[in-house]
Amino acid sequence: MAELTDRRSKRLGSAQADRALAFGNGVDGGYLRELLDSIPALVASLNPKWEVEFVNQPLLDYLGKPFHVLKDWQRSDVVHPDDLSIAVHNIDLASRTGESFDMEVRCRRYDNTFHWFQIRAVSLHDHVGNLTRWSMHMVDIEERKRSEEALESTGRDLRLAINTMPVLAWSTKPDGEADFFNEHFLTYTGLSPEGAAGWGWTAALHPDDRAPLATYWQTLLAEGGTGEFEARMRRSDGEYRYFLFRADPLRNNDGKIVKWYGTNTDINDRKNAEEQLRRSEAFLTEAQRLARIGRFTWRVATAEIWWSNEMYAMFEFEFGRTITFDLIASRLHPDDLRYVADMNQRANAAMSDLEYEHRLVMPNGEVKYMHLIAHSRRDSDGTLEYIGAVQDVTQRRRAEEALAKARQELANVTKATSLGVLTASIAHEVNQPLAGIITNASTCLRMLDGNPPNVDGARETARRTIRDGNRAADVIARLRSLFGQRKIIAEPLDLSEVAREVIFMSVGELQGKFVRLDEELAADLPLVQADRIQIQQVILNLLRNAADAMDRVTDRVKVIQITTAFDGGHVSLAVRDAGVGLDPIFGETIFEAFNTTKPNGMGIGLSVSRSIVTAHQGRIWAEQNDGPGATFTLALPIPLRTEAY
Ligand code: ADP
Repeated sequence: MAELTDRRSKRLGSAQADRALAFGNGVDGGYLRELLDSIPALVASLNPKWEVEFVNQPLLDYLGKPFHVLKDWQRSDVVHPDDLSIAVHNIDLASRTGESFDMEVRCRRYDNTFHWFQIRAVSLHDHVGNLTRWSMHMVDIEERKRSEEALESTGRDLRLAINTMPVLAWSTKPDGEADFFNEHFLTYTGLSPEGAAGWGWTAALHPDDRAPLATYWQTLLAEGGTGEFEARMRRSDGEYRYFLFRADPLRNNDGKIVKWYGTNTDINDRKNAEEQLRRSEAFLTEAQRLARIGRFTWRVATAEIWWSNEMYAMFEFEFGRTITFDLIASRLHPDDLRYVADMNQRANAAMSDLEYEHRLVMPNGEVKYMHLIAHSRRDSDGTLEYIGAVQDVTQRRRAEEALAKARQELANVTKATSLGVLTASIAHEVNQPLAGIITNASTCLRMLDGNPPNVDGARETARRTIRDGNRAADVIARLRSLFGQRKIIAEPLDLSEVAREVIFMSVGELQGKFVRLDEELAADLPLVQADRIQIQQVILNLLRNAADAMDRVTDRVKVIQITTAFDGGHVSLAVRDAGVGLDPIFGETIFEAFNTTKPNGMGIGLSVSRSIVTAHQGRIWAEQNDGPGATFTLALPIPLRTEAY
């Protein structure tokens, strides 16, 4: 057949050649040819030896090759070199079996690009069954191939994503039977895909969680919503961990569930932390209840106050009531109202922490003692906030008061007893020489009154009087030494520290008398050599006297100021009160024994104090204040250094 350059003439030429071959059954070959050329399909026919006999025009156009090139297609470059062997193999096989077949090979198109084609070869036989021809139908499936590949790669990516995401993922059939698990699921449980499939995965569930989860799952399957459930799953090493199971149904266009997708997220650490938090919160609440401690926060700028339940209970306000300073003030003891103003003042001056001892007066008149401590901090916005605790110290306070009272009573008894003993022994010891002196003095008088006066006798009697007088002085000296027997146990002392110890001991007693104590204790005082107990006694006595001096004061604040200082040679401690001041009857004698203005006083505190201070080579004195009250000061020398450092 002549090679035709013009497609139209080629078509005519081939039509002539093929008429007898292809359609030699009485049908008009020209008509069929035209028909085949006009259908939008790529068709060809080959003889049993696979020689191309006919190619329709669309196929010629599509491949862009003349007929003679296609005739010798095996030697042409029409079929992709990599696919040639597939084509040859299929043809060989079909030649032997005579059966129709399909194959997919790449063929070169008119634009020189290879496209995938699906080629269907149908064997045609004559009436006795001999193979007469192969009819071929080619379809360009490039597009389909591409989308298949794209789909495959998306599928690959998806599989990778599902397998690498840090959750256990799975899917089930509409009836809930599992049909897929990602690798994490299988690695975690140690189950094989077959082992986990269906309901096999439930073997990894904690025995206690199996029934509840099954019930939940059945309900979810029936209702078809999104579900969440927490249950424990066994890891391959046997450890159970908590997981959050999440399931979502996938529905088709009719709204029918076609699949369930789910994930299990490990929430074990969160669960543990929650549990720990719950436990420590429960513990804290219980501890606070037992210790009668309430917590509060106070945002200064907005005056917002938050209270814990215990606070409401202590103040006896109904739970949840909005807390304001007015409400708090309605419970405060009138004398302690100033603390509210003080708190606000301090907070507004951005002063640091707060600490108060205050009282509450309950509606039934009961008085409660409270100890408040609050710590200031700035939150993330820089807003000033106080976080604090209030402890009900009523019981402790009552116990302290009872103890202090008992102590006071004991001290009074001891004082009275020792004074009684002292008086008795003085009386006993001094009585004899006194009686002797009186007798001798009377005898002496009588002798001198005689006529003539018995001068020698009187002299002798006067001598005996002197002897008895000396005996009495001896007795006093002996008694003195007896009472001054305790040796001073001197140790290096910081007077500020000793003062703090005494304050600590007497703070309850002072508060009981509603006395405020202001301390100005110098830091880094040089040490004095002194007996700690004795100096404590002196300070304690000064504080008690100062408080006593303010007993009847009603028109001003009852305040004691305790100060320590160093003047270069002495360390001093002063106790200043706002009491009645020094009684003029005393003058200089206030430190002498048995001088008292108190109904139950003994008048020995200051005399003992003076003897203690004197024994320490120190000094103690009293001064009238410019304003109300008096100031008692003691000064102790600092020891001279004997060694150079
Ligand atoms: P007592 O306290 O038993 O009376 P003291 O020797 O301690 O014995 O005190 C003697 C007296 O000194 C007191 O009764 C009181 O009159 C007076 N006195 C002591 N301290 C002060 C003081 N701070 N202010 C006014 N008078 C005081």
